[in-house]
Amino acid sequence: MFAARTSICLDCRVALPDGEACTWLSHRSTALAGDCAPLIETVWGRARERDRPLGAATAPMVPVTATGFRGRIAQGPTARVPMRDQQAVGWALEVWHHEAAGSPIMLRDGATVGFAVTGDDGRMLVVPSTGVRMAIDERAGIERNRRRIGGYLRELAPRAAEPWPFPFDEVRMVVLSAEDLVTVRAVASVSPDPRAATAYRDAPRSILIATGPAWVERHTG
Ligand SMILES: [Zn+2]
Repeated sequence: MFAARTSICLDCRVALPDGEACTWLSHRSTALAGDCAPLIETVWGRARERDRPLGAATAPMVPVTATGFRGRIAQGPTARVPMRDQQAVGWALEVWHHEAAGSPIMLRDGATVGFAVTGDDGRMLVVPSTGVRMAIDERAGIERNRRRIGGYLRELAPRAAEPWPFPFDEVRMVVLSAEDLVTVRAVASVSPDPRAATAYRDAPRSILIATGPAWVERHTG
């Protein structure tokens, strides 16, 4: 299962997993389970006075305490990505509305089932089931099927009131798969490597475990 996202930052419009706050400490967030009134107010105005909805004001920031780790994603569990008949380790997307004021980004979302990254030197970073942030670049797939996009948004915010806080034209999505060469930035803790107690003399003595959302950069090759 991909990590559930339970709230959204009103400024970055990033969907946040349970217990996570936006990395910009000054930003406010609201629960996705309720009527999303604070989000609707941000998007459409307090008196619903905006002609054009307001998109994200800023982007989420990599935490200053994050560690960078480069390597390949190891084989592991996958799940079915939103809106697609495709299995993946993780995904990230942006919901775009070209007519929006400010910026066209109405929502950033992303999650993983959890994965491990193995570095060239044998070190390992474990990313548990959490939120994923990725640059949505020219490799992103573009989804414009309104029924599919609407179904995904309704699942994310099942009781959001009107006017709908996620007006959209399209969704841009990238996915993560085993064998992808990536750099992951995340706040991580060091744990003893269970392999170190075995006969593997070359096994590293510790592994890194990400403790929050992962910023993933996917390299070609
Ligand atoms: Zn934010």
